[in-house]
Amino acid sequence: MSCTDINVLKAVVSYSIQQNEQELGELSQKIWKNPELGFNEFEAHRILTEFLRRHGFEVEQHYILETGFRCSYGVDGGVVVCLICEYDALPEIGHACGHNLIAECGAGAAVAVKTCIEKELKNDPDFKGKVIVLGTPAEESYGGKIHMIRGGALDGVDIAIMAHPFAHETVTPGVISRIVGKAIFRGKSSHAAGAPWDGQNALDAAVTAYQSLACLRQHMKPGSFAHAIISKGGSRVNVIPDEAILEVAYRTTDTSYLRELIDKAKLRMTGAALATECQVEISFEHDSAYDAMIHNHTLCKLYEENGRQNGVEFYDKDVTLGSSDMGNISQLVPSIHPCFSIGTDAPNHSYEFTTASGSAEAQKRTLQTAKSLAMTAVDVLFTPGLLLQIQTDFRNQTTTVYQTFEGKV
Ligand SMILES: [Zn+2]
Ligand SMILES: [Zn+2]
Repeated sequence: MSCTDINVLKAVVSYSIQQNEQELGELSQKIWKNPELGFNEFEAHRILTEFLRRHGFEVEQHYILETGFRCSYGVDGGVVVCLICEYDALPEIGHACGHNLIAECGAGAAVAVKTCIEKELKNDPDFKGKVIVLGTPAEESYGGKIHMIRGGALDGVDIAIMAHPFAHETVTPGVISRIVGKAIFRGKSSHAAGAPWDGQNALDAAVTAYQSLACLRQHMKPGSFAHAIISKGGSRVNVIPDEAILEVAYRTTDTSYLRELIDKAKLRMTGAALATECQVEISFEHDSAYDAMIHNHTLCKLYEENGRQNGVEFYDKDVTLGSSDMGNISQLVPSIHPCFSIGTDAPNHSYEFTTASGSAEAQKRTLQTAKSLAMTAVDVLFTPGLLLQIQTDFRNQTTTVYQTFEGKV
């Protein structure tokens, strides 16, 4: 096993990230200035895979998904650590979730871990251990990680780690389960003044359903959220709309409660159609539901210790970030999804957060986080027996605390 002192390897991590500071900053800026939506992150895919190839990784572009990738370095037969990159943006508001920084953080940490493995292989040619970087598209919309899990991206992976920008430094943000659904209401178009009695107003159906879903909010269990928009509601004011679309998302801390909420929502959507003499087609995307995050206890402790050593002060209150397909990964392999501050109090998905994601302050915090992530990976790769402890936690946490939406994917 390892002959190199773990503290020496952590110094190597710091040095590597410092050395690559400029290049990492440029990578992040390029992605930030060119926001691409889920499954269309072609430039980000190119920028990240070229960076990792330049730094000696074996690169598989278009891995499982067109804009997915898998890069690796090391020797099979030991611990396999996986760093996760996200790089998709939001419509109109760009990198308002700071995924350019997630990509930078993952790529920077991966190169630092690789440098440690390289150093170890010089000391001990029999060393076994590997670092993998998974590029996972479309976190904001289509659950790229769920597709990648189904494609076998986690085969052989022992732990999966990433970090997400947020208003607070926190090791265990609330990352709760989520399902999205849609109701398409169909009525009959007619002239709004000439013959309204001949029409059936699909927008009325959508509005009635919206109000009815809003009434349900009062009765939802604590820790549950509902949000809806009417994404289609007619095209001209003088035409009775014959089609309207209501989109809805439900989130809860208790995944099994989602099923109950879906049943209640369906009842209300059907009732709205009946009340307005319209037809309705309801669909919920069961296959792409996001699971709640299991924050692995031992990994969290390691990350927190490394963070403190890197000068991070953690926020001690419970906070909810939202939902992520990283939750689905965490149900299958021991994982962490800590959040890091980028120098703004603004919430994610706001214009202010977009601005902050491109700032110099965000750079500083992202590199600090990359160090903590890489040091956590180094702990697991180079400390005999640590993986076993992480796996014991994982078994206890999955069987006692959480439930997936439809069982394991
Ligand atoms: Zn987001
Ligand atoms: Zn995000």
